Amino acid sequence: MKRLAVIDWNGWRAWRSGAIGTALAFVLAGAVFYVDTFTDIHSAIAVFYVMVLLLSAEALTERGIQLLTAFCTLLAIFSYGLSHGLDPDLPAALRLVVSIAALLTTCALIIRNDRARLALLHFNAALQRSEMRYRTIFEQSRVALWERDYSAVRSHLISLKESGVTDLKQYAKQDPELIARCIELISTVAANAAALELLGDVGTPNVGSMRRYIAPDDESFLDLLVVIFNGENHFEGRGTIIAADGKTKQVLVTIGFPDDISTFDRVIVGMIDITERELTQKALLEAQSELALALRVATVGALSASLAHELNQPLGAVVVNAQTLLRWLRRDPPDLEAVGRSAERIIRDSQRASDIIQNTRSVISQETRTLEEISLISLVHETRALLEHDLTKHGIALELQAEMMIKPVRAVKIELQQVLINLVTNAIQSLAGTPGTIARITVSIIDDADVVSLHIHDSGPGIAPDVMDRLFRPFQTTKATGLGMGLSICRASMEAIGGKLTAANHPQGGAIFIMTLPKVAR
Ligand code: ADP
Repeated sequence: MKRLAVIDWNGWRAWRSGAIGTALAFVLAGAVFYVDTFTDIHSAIAVFYVMVLLLSAEALTERGIQLLTAFCTLLAIFSYGLSHGLDPDLPAALRLVVSIAALLTTCALIIRNDRARLALLHFNAALQRSEMRYRTIFEQSRVALWERDYSAVRSHLISLKESGVTDLKQYAKQDPELIARCIELISTVAANAAALELLGDVGTPNVGSMRRYIAPDDESFLDLLVVIFNGENHFEGRGTIIAADGKTKQVLVTIGFPDDISTFDRVIVGMIDITERELTQKALLEAQSELALALRVATVGALSASLAHELNQPLGAVVVNAQTLLRWLRRDPPDLEAVGRSAERIIRDSQRASDIIQNTRSVISQETRTLEEISLISLVHETRALLEHDLTKHGIALELQAEMMIKPVRAVKIELQQVLINLVTNAIQSLAGTPGTIARITVSIIDDADVVSLHIHDSGPGIAPDVMDRLFRPFQTTKATGLGMGLSICRASMEAIGGKLTAANHPQGGAIFIMTLPKVAR
């Protein structure tokens, strides 16, 4: 009820003034009609009907004004009819025409004016709604927003430009006061709640200068000045600010400058607090570098383990051959031919140890290693010769099954040989650990369309089920003194040359390892 009363009160006032105007208009219309009809004044009295229209203009609608114009025109004609009857009176008729023209013109003007007023009202209402929308967005945004007046700083920078400054950054070095001066020239018009939350009291309208919250080491402010100096429209940068409580914060600042320089007094500045993000990123980087360090340590560990594993076999062979050599030498008389053979084997195995170290070095330093064409048949023969001592010791036969025409493969020979030695050594160890079986290792070379593969099949007990899943992972071993590095190194070496290494238990017993290599296109 109370609300209704308030609304009615305003409406009633408008209605009252309109009603008074209309009442006065009708009285005036009556007066004009009377004077025009019943007095002898020979002038265009009917023109005064215009006053009637003007007085009612505010109270009547467009239609009402049209009807009133028609009514006044009829009154004027009726008055002419009453005063002159059918006698032609040219001056009076002309006065009537002038009066009617004045009425019609006034009617048209009132309607046009009314339409323009309505359009203006609509426009104003839309403007108000838009302003309200903008205010709501500004106030309620979770992004810290300021309205700032950049007009003075812009004028200052433009005057510098006009005085011949071309490189503002260079100029700032010669004039260290430039930044402080420019900060003072920027004033804050408004700030939203998020801005207050970000900075505290600092930076709100009329609360001190912006200088209080720009950190002394902040470099983004000069970049911002350069953007204004160059007449660019957009600035985005990272800044360092100091909040009212003295806390330093990292912020992302974004400012859009208008094309219309007259609106530089209301520029919107947005800031997003990225302190947490920066801290997280810093922690992440630290964690990453710690991880990299740990990885390096682990790599060194793994490499030492790998080297120890790879060198074990040739160095073991060197020791065995050196002992044999001594035995031949201590004979009476010494068997110098046998001594020579042992010495040659020692040289061969030492050379292999040296090649392994050299290859490991080039893997670490990522040098390009020399690929060569290798005959797999020769590779198997050489491997058998190298492992001859172990094979004989355990009474193991190594058989080669291959067609005569096997195309060579392209690889680093020492790597490929190490893979084969590892696989055959594993097979030997597996057979040596299970006495009473027919000890046999079969190496078959199978030439397929695009690949060539080496199958190393032994007659041992096969791969233990508990290691099968993680066979190729480092440090997986079932041997008391094993390192568990061999198979992981072998797989990595095979993959490095575009090949594969797989393992399975053979349906006829024993383990089978398959080395698959890409063929050389000829
Ligand atoms: P290591 O020989 O030091 O144990 P490897 O990586 O060469 O390391 O081998 C990992 C494991 O795979 C061995 O401990 C063994 O259990 C299994 N393995 C490898 N080759 C054979 C094989 N021919 N027969 C049965 N098990 C095997």
